[in-house]
Amino acid sequence: MYQDLVDISIKIRKISLQLGSPISTPEVIVVGSQSSGKSSVLENILKRDFLPRGTGIVTKVPIRIQLTNSGKPNSLPFVIFQHQPKKIFYDFEEVHSEILKETQERTSNGAIVDDPICLNLNAPDVPNIILVDLPGLTKNAVKDQKEDVPLQIELLVKKYLKNKNCIILTISESTQEIVNSVSIKLSKEYDQKGERTLNVLTKLDLMERGTDVCDILNGEVIKNGKGFIPVINRSQKELKRGITYQQLIKKEKHFFQNHPSYCDISDKCGNEYLIKTISKLLAEKIQKSIPTLKNETEKLLLKVKKSLSSYENPFEITEGSKSGMMMLIFTKYVKEYSKLIEGNSNQCSNPKKLIGGARIYHSLQTKFTNIILKIKSNNKVKIEEIRKLLRNHSGYRSYLFNPEICFEILVKKKIEQFIKPSQNCVYLIYNELLSIFDSIKCNELQFFPQLKLEIKAVTKKFLKTLIKPTQNYIEQLILVEMSCIDLSNHNFFVDEKININLINKNKNAKKSRKRKPQRKGNDNSYISKNKNGQSNEELKDLETMPKEIKSLSKMNQNEEYIINLIQNLVKNRLNVITVKIVDSVIKTIVHFIINKSKTDLLFELVQNLYSEEKVSILLKESNTIIQQRENAKQMFQQLNNAKILLSDIAKQFF
Ligand code: GDP
Ligand code: MG
Repeated sequence: MYQDLVDISIKIRKISLQLGSPISTPEVIVVGSQSSGKSSVLENILKRDFLPRGTGIVTKVPIRIQLTNSGKPNSLPFVIFQHQPKKIFYDFEEVHSEILKETQERTSNGAIVDDPICLNLNAPDVPNIILVDLPGLTKNAVKDQKEDVPLQIELLVKKYLKNKNCIILTISESTQEIVNSVSIKLSKEYDQKGERTLNVLTKLDLMERGTDVCDILNGEVIKNGKGFIPVINRSQKELKRGITYQQLIKKEKHFFQNHPSYCDISDKCGNEYLIKTISKLLAEKIQKSIPTLKNETEKLLLKVKKSLSSYENPFEITEGSKSGMMMLIFTKYVKEYSKLIEGNSNQCSNPKKLIGGARIYHSLQTKFTNIILKIKSNNKVKIEEIRKLLRNHSGYRSYLFNPEICFEILVKKKIEQFIKPSQNCVYLIYNELLSIFDSIKCNELQFFPQLKLEIKAVTKKFLKTLIKPTQNYIEQLILVEMSCIDLSNHNFFVDEKININLINKNKNAKKSRKRKPQRKGNDNSYISKNKNGQSNEELKDLETMPKEIKSLSKMNQNEEYIINLIQNLVKNRLNVITVKIVDSVIKTIVHFIINKSKTDLLFELVQNLYSEEKVSILLKESNTIIQQRENAKQMFQQLNNAKILLSDIAKQFF
């Protein structure tokens, strides 16, 4: 009965682990000073030597060993490590080396590690329990160790002691004063009622002749937990000589039965009695936790039921119904896409993020529009630029009125800058649409991964084909806008707003000019002249004309007026055209990509994937899903059995 309980609790723990919310099952931890014999005691339960053992700090990482009784007397014992689940270890020398290697890797920085190395020992001669070997408590750090190592170990041990579901084995050497035992002191702190503590005295064979631990066993020296059990483990020498567990038990029995102090209580001494007591204690603990265990089992059952229903393929697909199923999936997929774009999908009810069409709206109305507006406002026409253009288009004559050509050139140049970012916006929307496709939730597709992949590939390819035509159309649109700059809205001399600005500017300019002495010479010329009417530069520049004439001479009133006029006209015209272009580009993208993808995708899918031979391949269920479904079924079965067993046991206890 006790063993049944332990078995059930371990089974439930295993399932809860697989479901990602492990329940805590009782486990046995060993607490004691370094070299007190902790690993030796555990090895006697394991009946195999593979734990790090010897002098010095050899156990630097907790080692959690799940013992599983194979139930078959002749089965070969083996070990599987949690960090290497695919490898089965039959050789225990190799298990020992693996533990040392893993310890080395985890403690390379000199720290003590909390997370245990986990392994499962499956053997016919072990009880179903979980054992945890912990690093030994020390008082001082040895050389090469960090100063705080003793404290780190103490904190680690305390962390394990805190778990109310663990049975504490305090390990103390019988050759040392028991009142100084650190493990007993710590266990008292965490198990004040002494309900889950068992005290082990090791190294009885090393005690001086004539001395014994009877007063401790009788509880005359110290009282702690469920009392003391004396044991004898193998010494280092015996280990080297290859003394087996069976030989040790024989020797141990002989020792207690023939010792004058222990012969009367020999059935309450030794490793075998210790193992029995641990199992009993463990079962008592589990017995107490039956109600919680039942509760946990119910919760896990619900969880498994839920996951089972998600793995359950809701469609009975026969050969004949496969084509219909494929059409159904295509239609559902395209419909969900449209819903996401339109904002009608259930997913759109998420208030935490922008989804589907809302992202497209943001990309077009905010991202793209801002880029274009930024380009527009960063590109104020410079006075120098206008002057040079005016100059260049007036030839060798001085100019009086020639602003149209200049205005047209400048506006065209500015509009041209909108082409690239507008075309890039097509990519922005393409990527958004891809992510919308990724987010489509189509339950049927999770069963057919191959079909899912192919649908994605066709969708991506189809969307790609829409990019170029859209970009070409956008380019044409902007070129059309550039081909004829409409001047009809602007009367150069009647546009009041512009003129008032210009008149004010000119008034100010006049005032400041009155204050300054007039410069001699022709203001329109950009080469100043000397006293004789001959330009110094002229003489020089006649020989070599500079590639670019950088600064022109000071503007006269007429020039200033024209330049201001052009500057304002360009700005006004650009304002009108930018709004027009943004609007047209957005409409083009909506028409050529978004609407087209909605209307034509179904056709693309059918054309590319809908054929007799493809249907069977694409509607093949995923092996992972089959496996997961099988696992869920097994878990469900095991939990159901556990539930029935727990109810039976509970009836007997309560
Ligand atoms: P741990 O550091 O507490 O895990 O201690 P170990 O189990 O590694 O034991 C330390 C050393 O003491 C090893 O060399 C063991 O062989 C030895 N040892 C442990 N228990 C006994 C015992 O009961 N008798 C003898 N003679 N040696 C023991
Ligand atoms: Mg150890």
